[in-house]
Parts: sequence; structure tokens; C-alpha cells
Amino acid sequence: MPQILDGSRIRDQIKAECRPRVDRIIEQFGRPPGLAVVLVGNNPASEVYVRGKTKTAEELGIYNETITPAPSISTEELQRLIRALNTRPEIDGILVQLPLPAQIDSQKVLLTVAPEKDVDGFHPYNVGLLATGRPGLRPCTPAGVIQMLNRYEIPIAGKNAVVVGRSDIVGKPMSLMLLQENATVTVCHSRTRDLPAVCRTAEILVAAIGRAAMITADYIQPGAVVVDVGMNAITDRALAERIFDASRMANFDKRGSLLVGDVHPGDMARVASAYTPVPGGVGLLTIAMLMQNTIEAAERRTGLLE
Ligand code: NDP
Repeated sequence: MPQILDGSRIRDQIKAECRPRVDRIIEQFGRPPGLAVVLVGNNPASEVYVRGKTKTAEELGIYNETITPAPSISTEELQRLIRALNTRPEIDGILVQLPLPAQIDSQKVLLTVAPEKDVDGFHPYNVGLLATGRPGLRPCTPAGVIQMLNRYEIPIAGKNAVVVGRSDIVGKPMSLMLLQENATVTVCHSRTRDLPAVCRTAEILVAAIGRAAMITADYIQPGAVVVDVGMNAITDRALAERIFDASRMANFDKRGSLLVGDVHPGDMARVASAYTPVPGGVGLLTIAMLMQNTIEAAERRTGLLE
């Protein structure tokens, strides 16, 4: 039987470790760590994510506020708003929820966030710290993957790791973090030739593609550790039937949709030695890592951490 890497278990560990750190900041500085979330527009998925973030912040005693400017806001106005957050002492972390509306230059906006408050780890300064192996704020989703592997004591050093996807948010930082952990890393993307053959070289395979169940058994080396970052909502019944077994199809019929990763769930369970399920895997760790980053930003800003 393969080992199922349970995201809720690791999330709870990380959250439990956050609590005393929040208390220490309150004790020494008379205020909790503070997180500002900027949510522009009415994207329902973004609203769900932001609610999850504020709920977890509240649970951990992290001060948080959500700023919802008018959806028509310009790049310059949004930059002004962020500059104001940069100067507020009680705000340690600033998160600009993506995607931003089309009229906004996202790159410019992300550059405006002060690097020491950039809890998403997307500012080029923090990307540079990651690329050069220095401590700093790391992107939450790939940082969660490393936590998952480390806490399940899955060796990374010396392993062949293949990352499918090269986005700035997941694939690229993921490959840098695996390299930092001394894996031999291959990064794949839409132009990679013979993707199944490259993936089969992986002892650790990370899929961050955004294509439902694309990675099937012929991509997976028997016994590999498979990390499925993908989160795809399926509403097409025919597609669902190709992916899910009868018990999950019953769920599909009840809800009209189901969440699936980038890896075929049945194939992954059959071929891998260990894997992260969807849902219930790495998706649960992103918010926990955001909380950890907010606390870390507060610790650095208050001098508790060098
Ligand atoms: P992007 O769309 O930004 O990037 C997708 C990457 O996959 C690109 O590098 C693209 O290549 C590559 N790709 C697309 N199609 C193929 C293909 N057929 N063969 C090989 N490579 C391909 O997505 P993200 O990185 O933002 O997200 C990836 C997945 O992770 C999504 O399912 C998303 O929902 C999920 N996600 C989950 C999070 C969580 O768990 N909390 C957080 C963030 C994302 P190219 O660069 O050549 O176009």
C-alpha cells in the first residue's frame, strides 16, 4: 500500500508551532503579527481563498484586515494603497490576491510591496534570496511541499526530482527549493519533448500544471513519490467517468463537480510509493505557510529573527 501524505496532519503541526510564536510577539511587543489582504474584483474563487486566510489568521491570533478597493481601481491607485500599507508599523505582511483585474499591471503592483512584508514571496528581491540560497520569505505553495516531504521524512538529497510546470508561483520556486535540498532537478513545461519519459526518471515527481489528471501511470516511475499540486474543478461527467471510480462518481452526481489534481488519482495510488491526495494534500498547506510567513516577517521586523 502506498503512503498517503496527509496535508491536514502537517497543516495542524505547522499551525500548532505558529501559536507560541504569535504569543511571544504579543508578549514582547504588545501587538500580534499583522496581515493585510488586498482583494480587488469579484472573483468567487479569490473570495473563498481570502475567507480561508482570514479565518486561519483569526484562529491563530494574527491581526488581519481585508481591503477591497473598487474593481475599477487603476494600477497607480493600487500602488498608492500598497505604499500606505508598507508604512504602517502594525502590518507585517501584505498579500495581493491574484488574479488582478485586466486593467491592472500585476507585475508593477507586486513590485510595490515592500520585500520585508512580501508574505507571498513573489517580489524579485525575495526570489533572488531564494535563488541564492539565503533566508527570506518563500512562496507558500512550494514551501508547503518541502514541509510535507521533510515532515514525512522523505529523503530529497541526491534524488532525481522532476517538476512539471515553471510558473513564478509554483513550478520555478519549487525547482529552486528542491535544488536547495540537494535534489537533482529537471524542470518541464509545455515545450518539453517526450514528457512521459522525462517524468519516469523522477524519484520525486511534482505536478503543477493545471490540467486535470494529465499525469497518468505511464508518466510515473514505479515507487516514485508523487506530489500533486494541481487543483482542477471538473464539471464534465464524461471526463469525470474517465478519472473517478464508482464511489467518487456518486459524489460527483450529488454535487455536480469534483476537485481533481494534475495526476490521475487511481494511477497515482497504484504506481507511487507515496503521494499527496487531492483534495487533502498540499492544497491544505498553502494557508498555513502564509501564516508562518506573516509571523516570520513580524519576527524579522521586530528583531526577534536576524
Ligand atoms: P500556470 O498556468 O501558471 O502554469 C502551468 C505550467 O504548466 C506552465 O509552466 C506550463 O508550461 C505547464 N504546462 C501546461 N500544460 C502543459 C503540458 N501539456 N505539458 C507540460 N507542461 C504544461 O499554473 P500554476 O503554476 O499557477 O498552477 C498549477 C496548478 O497548481 C493549477 O492546477 C493550480 O490550480 C494549482 N495551484 C494550487 C495551489 C495550492 O495548492 N494552494 C496554489 C497555486 C496553484 P509553459 O510555461 O510552457 O506554458
